[in-house]
Amino acid sequence: MRKEFNFDLSALNTFRMKVRCACFVEYQSVDELSSLDLDSLPKPIKHIGGGSNLLFTGDFPGTILHSAIRYIKYVDLGLDEVPVVVGAGVTWDALVEELCGYGFWGAENLSLIPGEVGAAAVQNIGAYGVEIKDLISGVSCYDLQERRPCKFSVAECGYGYRESMFKESDGRYVITSVLLRVSRKPRPRLEYKGLADVDASSPASVREAVIGIRRSKLPDPSDLGSAGSFFKNPVISAADFVRVCDAAPGETVPHYVLSNGFVKVPAAWLIDRCGFRGEREGGAQVYERQPLVIVNASGEAAPGDILELERRIVASVNERFGVTLSPEVEHI
Ligand SMILES: Cc1cc2nc3c(=O)[nH]c(=O)nc-3n(C[C@H](O)[C@H](O)[C@H](O)COP(=O)(O)OP(=O)(O)OC[C@H]3O[C@@H](n4cnc5c(N)ncnc54)[C@H](O)[C@@H]3O)c2cc1C
Repeated sequence: MRKEFNFDLSALNTFRMKVRCACFVEYQSVDELSSLDLDSLPKPIKHIGGGSNLLFTGDFPGTILHSAIRYIKYVDLGLDEVPVVVGAGVTWDALVEELCGYGFWGAENLSLIPGEVGAAAVQNIGAYGVEIKDLISGVSCYDLQERRPCKFSVAECGYGYRESMFKESDGRYVITSVLLRVSRKPRPRLEYKGLADVDASSPASVREAVIGIRRSKLPDPSDLGSAGSFFKNPVISAADFVRVCDAAPGETVPHYVLSNGFVKVPAAWLIDRCGFRGEREGGAQVYERQPLVIVNASGEAAPGDILELERRIVASVNERFGVTLSPEVEHI
């Protein structure tokens, strides 16, 4: 177990915010986690992964918990479906690379998503028509309230679009490992536009194509700090959608009608139409190639720069289109 006080979190958030926490604890096993004297730690307590969906708005006054449970166990029964148990601290993309290298199908569309396996199961990460819930059979946790290990089936995880019951549980459950099922049988998922013509002869070839597409669109956090998509795509009523169209005369507003009649509109389009592509605030900037992403352009952006840019974008989109954007990135 590693425990440090006044710990520098710069390497544990992909925005590269230079922030510190009062206490940092990294554990290697469920036993180490359960032996922690939680009552003696500075509060609040927050568990993080790679910090790729977080914005630290300043120094964190409490304890940051981090998992170093890093094993990958294959339960090879010689069947088409292969169960894999993965420790929560494994880097998600390292896992995908290994699965693709072994020729197992299922995770290749989720290549290059930053972060760790535990958080991937909290966030229900998704890309190119696949979500991690499609692979999950069960999740093992440690219940910080009851102070005991527990397990959830995929149905109990309450998965929806970037949603799960873990997100609603106010940090009660620390995910310690995830049981996934991958397939030996070819199972390419190429229905998403952009993947239709890719070489689907192996999961590794699909992974290569996905990586190529992602690199052309999104900043690599090791070059340019960001937390990926900063805002959620708003879901609005049909009446509100008519108002959005009225505010963009002569333009076709991109949209997707949901089964409940509500309409999803790309936040990137709204932000772009408000003239924010490339806009700067201190060291922060709206990414030129994808206005849904805010980047730490100078490498020295302060949390306040990002918060101010966020405030201006929300106000401007609201004023022009009457739509209130909500952040996808969790503010801490
Ligand atoms: C360039 C870029 C591209 C991205 N592209 C995508 C994409 O295509 N699709 C997508 O879905 N996301 C994407 N993301 C968002 C992000 O990668 C995911 O949300 C990822 O799962 C976050 O993982 P993390 O380990 O960094 O978690 P963190 O950001 O550290 O934490 C996320 C949440 O999980 C909780 N958490 C972390 N670990 C645990 C644990 N073990 N137990 C319980 N709770 C825990 C935290 O408290 C927090 O609430 C992108 C981000 C970036 C920077």
